[in-house]
Amino acid sequence: MLFDSHAHVDGPEFDADRDEVLARARAAGVQRIVVIGAVSDPTSAERAVALAERDPEIWATVATHPHDAGNMTPEWWAVHERLATHPRVVAIGETGLDYYYDHSPREAQRAAFARFIELARAVGKPVVCHIRDAHEDARAILRAGGVTDCVIHCFTGTPDDARAYAELGYYISFSGIVTYKTAQPLRDAVPLVPRDRLLLETDCPYLAPVPRRGKRNEPAFLPHTAEVVARCSGMTFDELADATTQNTCRVFRLPPPAVT
Ligand SMILES: [Zn+2]
Ligand SMILES: [Zn+2]
Repeated sequence: MLFDSHAHVDGPEFDADRDEVLARARAAGVQRIVVIGAVSDPTSAERAVALAERDPEIWATVATHPHDAGNMTPEWWAVHERLATHPRVVAIGETGLDYYYDHSPREAQRAAFARFIELARAVGKPVVCHIRDAHEDARAILRAGGVTDCVIHCFTGTPDDARAYAELGYYISFSGIVTYKTAQPLRDAVPLVPRDRLLLETDCPYLAPVPRRGKRNEPAFLPHTAEVVARCSGMTFDELADATTQNTCRVFRLPPPAVT
């Protein structure tokens, strides 16, 4: 089985066929999903938690994406602080820094990131980070916050960044980008991540892997990414599936799936 560690199936892109999407995921061997409730405003967090409440193989995270950090209000923070302690919420995220798009002022991104790290610490849960073109600043903030339990999602850094996160003991998650023709540096980073720190994700509806690139992504497409990551890491598909499932369960403190 595979575990999609980062999916936005709470989003409106899936309103028309969410149940079919989840059924296709299971049929493709993607048994478990973490839904990231962090897009736009906190209704995303509410929807993610609602999905996790009705499906025993789905869990949620809550935060506000760095793109929207500049829009955060005290009311948004109140929603996240309330949901952070929910038993189906396994992490705070995605939070972080995106200096590629700069949709929110960098100062607002850094302030929100630091505050979400504090929230994660207060509730004793890991942090799921979105970091783009900002790895140095991100590591400084993570170190200052004393973060030890951390996922760097949709990793797009250099092999040196992968090494630096691995030294901090962080988990590194690969998305469909690793299947793209131009992503050789990313494939070169895969073997630098310790086997017990590798995760897989779709980040759907974004970033569909080859050969689905350009389509709406969904959890059922995760095996395409898994094939490439397995090849780069020198594992068989089954070894990688097992390792990444165990890793995802460990970081999010979930019981490993029963062997069938
Ligand atoms: Zn992200
Ligand atoms: Zn995401």
